[in-house]
Amino acid sequence: MNAATDTIVAIATAPGAGGVGMLRVSGPQALRIAVDLGCPQLQPRHAHYARFRDAAGEVLDDGIALYFPNPRSFTGEDVVELQGHGSPVVLQQLVGRCIALGARQARPGEFSERAFLNGKLDLAQAEAIADLIAASDTRAARAARRSLDGVFSRRVEDAGEQLVRLRIHVEAAIDFADEPLDTLGGDQVRQGLGEVQLALATLRDDAERGRRLRDGLHAVLVGPPNAGKSSLLNALAGSERAIVTDIAGTTRDTLRETIRIDGLELTLVDTAGLRDGGDAIEREGMRRARAEMQRTDLAIIVLDARDPQAGHAAVADAIAEVPLQLWIHNKSDLLEALPADIDANVVHVSAATGQGLDRLHTRLRELASGSAGDSVEGEFSARARHVEAITLAIGHAERAEAELVHEHLELAAEELRLAHEALGEITGRMSADDLLGRIFSSFCIGK
Ligand code: GDP
Ligand code: ZN
Repeated sequence: MNAATDTIVAIATAPGAGGVGMLRVSGPQALRIAVDLGCPQLQPRHAHYARFRDAAGEVLDDGIALYFPNPRSFTGEDVVELQGHGSPVVLQQLVGRCIALGARQARPGEFSERAFLNGKLDLAQAEAIADLIAASDTRAARAARRSLDGVFSRRVEDAGEQLVRLRIHVEAAIDFADEPLDTLGGDQVRQGLGEVQLALATLRDDAERGRRLRDGLHAVLVGPPNAGKSSLLNALAGSERAIVTDIAGTTRDTLRETIRIDGLELTLVDTAGLRDGGDAIEREGMRRARAEMQRTDLAIIVLDARDPQAGHAAVADAIAEVPLQLWIHNKSDLLEALPADIDANVVHVSAATGQGLDRLHTRLRELASGSAGDSVEGEFSARARHVEAITLAIGHAERAEAELVHEHLELAAEELRLAHEALGEITGRMSADDLLGRIFSSFCIGK
């Protein structure tokens, strides 16, 4: 892409009528277009009153013009911002006028893309802009703001630098391949690798928490038929969304609800009960339930408090791969008394009476935020793509460790290089063009 030659324009404010509307123009022709539009000589970073005119000289609108010469602008190019009245019709006329004067309608995310290409932002920061704008609560917004400030990127870069230092050490040792690693600072290398692995593991946990803040937590309700999964979903969602019946195996399809717990989004998926047998439709429901388990963060296992053991076997293998698990004994209203030896990991509730639901809320909030319910210092937002990249890096670091054990220094160095490369995908220093296209096209126009 040739960012330097064409000039782009778009409305930067939200669609619809508003008090003020803003147009962003970026590229080498930005200043000339502003002047042709009727702006006076614009001094850098000064607000100028201006009357924006059409080709015939008639005033389309009046407002404020601001000029940010390159490289000290959002995109790193010459940027002019035109603020007028927030009328969609007038703003569209102004865009049309800019296009007539030589600009081109910007694609979604193209301003951020140019900022990235010109080194004003790295990729994780550019993504944080979109996440900040889309944030659905204050905590997610604050986390996205931190990522935009580079908190996440710096963590990634620190881990990357550790990897590079280690690689240099290993590669230096390759030149003395005849000697055993231990005489070449092998302890230091192994210790350094241990430190990198710890840093990567912590980074992945923090990024995973950041991803949950952005995407919300995805939970699947599982358990034997009739344990009360649908009733519990209704109780949590506070509606009669799922169909509740007395006939075992009624919830044949999957139903989902999004609920909010202290600003954290939780998507709950109700599934068909897991049990052996059943008719074809029920088996299809169970197949879908198992498919949901492949990509969920949390399994909420709902068992009948009167006979919790009964459902165990059917769910055990389905939930084995799910990272987070929450065990629930429902229908505790039907118990004479709560068992004396309550397992701390089990929450006793009654979907029918609502008893225990507040404790369930607390547990869900703890699980969603990864620790305590309060936001964590330095918490940043992240995306699934980032977590995957860190996981990839962790895999390479593990293989590097294995190669070191066998004193395969070249292979260890290569694994360290690959780990670094995986991290590079996050900040975009090594990203393929198609990845960039995918990321920026999900932005909206004007960003
Ligand atoms: P699912 O098959 O696991 O989704 O179970 P349902 O939510 O359809 O509930 C099965 C039956 O158990 C229904 O008759 C519900 O009214 C009843 N039920 C669900 N939760 C409770 C509870 O906490 N207490 C009592 N007494 N009955 C419940
Ligand atoms: Zn159900």
